[in-house]
Amino acid sequence: MDRWLRPALMVLAVMFVAPALLSTTASAYAASPNSIAEAELPVTSERPPADGMTPDGRVWFVPMARKEIALTFDDGPYPFYTPLLLHQLESDSTPATFFLVGRTMQEYPELVERIVASGDEIGNHTFNHYTLTGLTDDEIEDQLTTCGSLIESYTGAPPTLFRPPHGRYDQHVVDIAHKLGYRTVLWSDAPDDAKPDNTEVPVNVIVQRVLAHAHPGGIVLLHSGQYNTILAMPMIIAGLRDQGYSFVTVTHLLADQDF
Ligand SMILES: [Zn+2]
Repeated sequence: MDRWLRPALMVLAVMFVAPALLSTTASAYAASPNSIAEAELPVTSERPPADGMTPDGRVWFVPMARKEIALTFDDGPYPFYTPLLLHQLESDSTPATFFLVGRTMQEYPELVERIVASGDEIGNHTFNHYTLTGLTDDEIEDQLTTCGSLIESYTGAPPTLFRPPHGRYDQHVVDIAHKLGYRTVLWSDAPDDAKPDNTEVPVNVIVQRVLAHAHPGGIVLLHSGQYNTILAMPMIIAGLRDQGYSFVTVTHLLADQDF
């Protein structure tokens, strides 16, 4: 496809197709989103400390009294899903943090440009999305630096946020990320919107989980390649706003910690 044609089709899709699709809870697309999504397997064995972070850079949440919350989207960017997600976020003026995969960024540079243009934040989700605990220290560092350089080429600044693929990390991973200037951003709320077996999670279940678990300074783990997650966004955004929350990027959340 021509270089200009693909972005043009995406713009048309967002302008004309997205509103129609997003007004329904089921569509032809709903049957196939997981084919390009990378399911996460969140680590649940480690409980976050009371203040939400550790000196080696791990962050689960940011202690604060203000009702601020950070929506984070792992994986991608993806054709179709990322433009739809950006459309949802922009139509509600909702900033978010995208943890992108380097090889996918290389594949879809125009989508990275759109994320940057939207004012959303980009974090490092490694170059290949390998499970880092199975790699050598040099390989872990390479996964972070190659993706980090790529992000910097779009944003003009080295990224400072890292999220380990599949939620899998150990002390080696955390220490290498810390040495390279990253915080290892985990989460305080994972509504489990991406199943390892690609089972579809109903929209209302995703919405209810996020709304029920929200707390000030929370970091919500979502996935950008899940169609039902995208469909859930208007209800999540409206529901959290009704609870008095405002949306910020993870970096903004960290800057606003007040304890
Ligand atoms: Zn991932």
